[in-house]
Amino acid sequence: MIVYVPEKNEIHTKAIEELKKNGHEIIFGRELSHDDENKIQILFIRTYITANKECLNQFPNLKFILKVGVGLDNVDLGECKKRNIQVINAPQSNSNSVAELVVCLMLMLLRHTRQQSHRLRHGSWRGKELMGEELKRKTVGFVGCGAIARSITEKILAFQVKEILGYDPYLDEKTLARFKIKKTDLNFLIKNSNIISLHLPLTPETKNLITLKELKQMKKTTYLINTSRGGIINEKDLIVALRNKTIKGAALDVFENEPEIKKEFLSLENISLTPHIGAYTVESDYEMSMMPVRKFLALI
Ligand code: NAD
Repeated sequence: MIVYVPEKNEIHTKAIEELKKNGHEIIFGRELSHDDENKIQILFIRTYITANKECLNQFPNLKFILKVGVGLDNVDLGECKKRNIQVINAPQSNSNSVAELVVCLMLMLLRHTRQQSHRLRHGSWRGKELMGEELKRKTVGFVGCGAIARSITEKILAFQVKEILGYDPYLDEKTLARFKIKKTDLNFLIKNSNIISLHLPLTPETKNLITLKELKQMKKTTYLINTSRGGIINEKDLIVALRNKTIKGAALDVFENEPEIKKEFLSLENISLTPHIGAYTVESDYEMSMMPVRKFLALI
């Protein structure tokens, strides 16, 4: 089949090689002729191409969309269904990378490694106000209990956390119990967790799920982590809460207007910021591109 790859650098070369090895022809991003557009049967994309109605109209003979990674926010699934275009993505291809980052952020927050390192670089020795805490015996709360939350659970059980609470309206108590997560409502989780970590999609329902109201209900000693999507926490409210020490600290890997971030974050001592690196590992990069190709080859 003829595969169109509009963003060559966004797809792992091994995935392209695999398609070629199996006899598929690749067209890379460039001005396409009308003839090319008619020939193309597969669109292989990552994040920055939106497969909406207008894009799909360009390729009247499209049969498949191969999507690098998990999220399908840039694919109009309804329109694909109408046109009988099969969409193949890579669920769970990056869960372990994100889970490892979250464990890293938990420990960084608890031990103030960023601030202690900053002190040392500026000529001061460790400060008593920055004494750390252990993860052992802490209550961890997950908002959203899918693949990533479960992978973190497997890892932090080894740290002997006290318990893991989970708020997920789409999963029942029994299912969560199987993964060693205790189902609660959001209110209980917010009030009782020492560390709260968000692992849910951004939808109209979850936008601004965490506002100043929820932040004020958290313990003053709570750490909040968001590696899911910007916009789920109201950023202005988080800045107010961190300034007023309403909670102890936060770590953000995702932002409302990436790659822009609010300047106010930069002057806060009690926040750790990373530029959307949850899945930014050699292992995830490979698997996010290879999984849709493997699934496609097994299907045809
Ligand atoms: P998943 O689909 O396996 O799990 C998401 C869970 O959220 C589901 O169990 C679902 O029932 C739950 N959920 C949906 N709406 C909810 C709501 N209103 N309240 C509470 N829970 C709700 O997804 P995942 O692979 O675990 O990914 C979780 C998030 O992490 C997604 O937003 C994903 O886009 C993001 N992510 C970020 C990175 C990164 O680089 N930082 C990488 C991969 C994924």
